[in-house]
Order: sequence, then structure tokens, then C-alpha cells
Amino acid sequence: LIQVSQMKKSFGSLDVLKNINFEVERSQVVAVIGPSGSGKSTMLRSLVHLEQIDGGSICVEGDYLAKDGVYANHQTLKRITSKMGMVFQHFNLFPHFTVKENLELAPKYVKRASAGEIRHKSADLLEKVGLSDKANEYPSRLSGGQKQRVAIARALMMSPAILLFDEPTSALDPELTGEVLQVIKQLAEENMTMVVVTHEMGFAREVADQVLFMDDGEVVEAGPPQQLFTNPQHKRTQAFLNTIL
Ligand code: ATP
Ligand code: MG
Repeated sequence: LIQVSQMKKSFGSLDVLKNINFEVERSQVVAVIGPSGSGKSTMLRSLVHLEQIDGGSICVEGDYLAKDGVYANHQTLKRITSKMGMVFQHFNLFPHFTVKENLELAPKYVKRASAGEIRHKSADLLEKVGLSDKANEYPSRLSGGQKQRVAIARALMMSPAILLFDEPTSALDPELTGEVLQVIKQLAEENMTMVVVTHEMGFAREVADQVLFMDDGEVVEAGPPQQLFTNPQHKRTQAFLNTIL
């Protein structure tokens, strides 16, 4: 579904992504792990064109967002990025809109569905994440776990082909991470294609089909969780896992 090849990105003289290569297959869950500053967020943001890459290619469902460092035209970029939903660490909900309005804003703006369909869909998705009773609340009146579940429902409103998560639970109190991971797990069971940057190794082990270990702007090692966690091939992977497990 996604192919990334030779992706490069620098901020000034800092090479943040150095020759990144990986693939995400349809219905796969890919967990991305690695130390702080290794480039995980920059990699994810590059996939949805929140960052501009300096070289390499990003291909989504056969469509090139960028090919050999050259970006597609505006219309193509919009078509490709509209297939991807992103969920951030700090939820990024609109504080002056209710939960329901947060869900319905973007779909109403792009007008691909009728108002009735949009209302139905937001009600369905709020039910799915267990927040039907919060539809008319403002985000400030929700717990962190509830906010993140709203953010996931909001991302699903646009029916993305792929969902990207950047540390969806790391701003949450430990007792709230479970409810968010549970929603992501449920989406995995429904065969949603997802890339999840996470520090939750238990979750990665249980839910991911593939784990990417990033260090210093590179994908150092990639493989199924049982291999990467129990028999890492690379010294840097071993060292990282030793510091956190
Ligand atoms: P963390 O686990 O702490 O979230 P990360 O793996 O997500 O880390 P990134 O946020 O991608 O790492 O950052 C990679 C490197 O790029 C860091 O050295 C960071 O300081 C730098 N960086 C990120 N964004 C910018 C920016 N907008 N301008 C300059 N440098 C940046
Ligand atoms: Mg990050």
C-alpha cells in the first residue's frame, strides 16, 4: 500500500532521515520504535506531506507523492494525502468545537457526502470508540484517553486507506493508555492498515505485523515482532531493547 524508497530529509545541516526504505502492505500494522530524535515523527509527517523530503520516493496505492525527490502536482498531492489519516500525540482537537463538530468539520468542508450521511457516520464512529454520550461535550471536558479516542474517530471520518499514529498514548496517564490501545487493536482486527510510532512494546509485540527499529535517521532493522524483540540481528537494536525492556 505504501512504498518508501531512499527517503532523505535534512533540517539545515542535520540529516534527520538518511535513506529510509520500507513497505506497508494492505491490512498490515507496522510499529515504529526507536530512541528520541531518531526521526520517527519526521518520517511519519513526511508520509502525509507535513514535511517536505529532500530525496527519494513515497508511493501510496501506486500513486507517487514524490518520485526521486520530485513532488507530484497539487491535485495529486491532495488526492494521495486524503487517503491518509493522522493521529497525534497531543490529540490536536479543535477546542472551541464540540466532539461531534470536531468529527464533522472536515467532511462537511470537502462535501463528498450529504449532511445526513455525515451525521450518521459521526454517530457510528463515536459509538465505535465508546463515546456516544460525549457527542455534545467540548474537548476540555474529556479525559486524555477520551480525547484521543475522539481524535481517532475524527481521522476515520474521512475513510482513510491508512491511519498513521504518532505516539498516540505517550501524553496519557498510564491508566488511560489501555482504552486507546484497545481501539487501535480493534481497528487492526478490522484489517485497517496502520503505521504506529509507539513506546508501547507490549502493544507492538501483540498487534504489529512488522516492527521497524529506527536509529539516527535510518531503519536499522525491520521484521516481525517475535523476531525483532526476541532475536534482534543488529547491535543497535539489541542495545535499544536492553535500555527499555
Ligand atoms: P521522539 O521520540 O522524541 O518523538 P523522533 O524519533 O520522533 O523523537 P523527530 O521528531 O523526527 O524524532 O526528530 C528527529 C531530529 O530532527 C531531531 O534531532 C530533531 O531535533 C530534529 N527536528 C525535528 N523537527 C525539526 C524542525 N522542524 N527543525 C529542525 N530540526 C528538527
Ligand atoms: Mg516523535
